[in-house]
Amino acid sequence: MKKYHPHTESVHADKNYNDYPDGSVHSPVCASVLFEFKDAQGIVDAFQGKKVAHVYGRSSSSTTTALQNVLTQQHEALGSVTFATGMAAISSFMFAMLKQGDHIIVSQYLFGNTRSFFHQLAQFGISVSFVDITDIKAVSEQVREQTRVIFAEGLANPLTQIPDLNALGTLAKKHHIISMLDTTMTPPTMFKAQDFPVDIVVTSLTKYIAGQGQALGGAIIDMGRFDWTQYPHIDPLYQVADTAQWGLVQLRKKGLRDIGATLSPEAASAILLGQETLGLRWQKIQDNAAQIAAYLNEHPAVETVFHPSLEQHEQHHLALEQFSTFGGILSFTLKGDKDPVAFINHLDLIICATHLGDTRTLALPVTQTIFFEFSEAEKTAMGVSESLVRLSVGIEDSHDLLADLAHGLSLSM
Ligand SMILES: *Cc1c(COP(=O)(O)O)cnc(C)c1O
Repeated sequence: MKKYHPHTESVHADKNYNDYPDGSVHSPVCASVLFEFKDAQGIVDAFQGKKVAHVYGRSSSSTTTALQNVLTQQHEALGSVTFATGMAAISSFMFAMLKQGDHIIVSQYLFGNTRSFFHQLAQFGISVSFVDITDIKAVSEQVREQTRVIFAEGLANPLTQIPDLNALGTLAKKHHIISMLDTTMTPPTMFKAQDFPVDIVVTSLTKYIAGQGQALGGAIIDMGRFDWTQYPHIDPLYQVADTAQWGLVQLRKKGLRDIGATLSPEAASAILLGQETLGLRWQKIQDNAAQIAAYLNEHPAVETVFHPSLEQHEQHHLALEQFSTFGGILSFTLKGDKDPVAFINHLDLIICATHLGDTRTLALPVTQTIFFEFSEAEKTAMGVSESLVRLSVGIEDSHDLLADLAHGLSLSM
């Protein structure tokens, strides 16, 4: 199959796999839950894994398959499975792959709902160690015989910490542990997972990939690097001839089919459309984010700015090594612990909403909202303070964004 540059792939990849009916250029929305087999042997073969076919909408449809193909191609991966949301992708993967008695190592700098989910998982007899993922020694000290997964985010929100992916991947490989990376904040336009020892990519399609706040979705992408024959929990039923497929087969059955958090064909279609413009959106978002970070960094009402583009950022060097740009999320604290709620109320253009990766620039008071459920100790461990404001930078004209921030800050001084 011919390979093109990522921006080209995002608009053409799907056609490499499919001939749509009537010469349709876009993947049609396949709303049918059921699929007829004219010869009953066909459905037998499909159930027995001898033939690939759609059998029931919870497991697959042509629209979700089209999206999976694009994701696989963009990531130069082995295969992808889509889910109803990013959280569904994470939780389905864990339930499909882990057993009571297992141990996982998880970054302490995590998207709040992911963190909450891992606390819940610990109720099911799986031990979870939260660690400072930027400290590879601390991570390696947690490795045990039963450790199955190391889970990190490529760029954590709100404080934009970045793990050393080569060090993490090498550690994981040495102990046959799955190295899993949430790339929601580092989409393929800034991070090439294939160049790093990452085994499993998980991403919320809801954020940058769909990009326009109109569809929820998530995906697990198997980079094709993990040796599943070394993994103790692949059901003999799913130990198919091609050992590379073991993880994906088990995830499709135990994760997608049995848990049932299926991406709807309508959402898949919206995400397919959204991802076509990611490359264009990304350029604008990066340009705006760098300008805003530099502006806030000099502003007298601002205490600290967290964005990997700034030289003072603790992992600025890792950002340069691992990413082609610095990302569209940034956070900052207000000097004198001023009230972030009052500041955000002074903004006219920037929208107060909890979402990331939208075309619109969004602001959020952090501790009072997404970290509200966490204890003081947890908040301190995550490094979030009362006056923290998170921005998700959009594609507006930078002059308007800077003017809005200037206005809001002037009233907050
Ligand atoms: C939003 C988000 C998720 C969850 O995705 P949903 O599609 O909202 O379920 C997971 N990880 C990160 C880093 C996120 O930002």
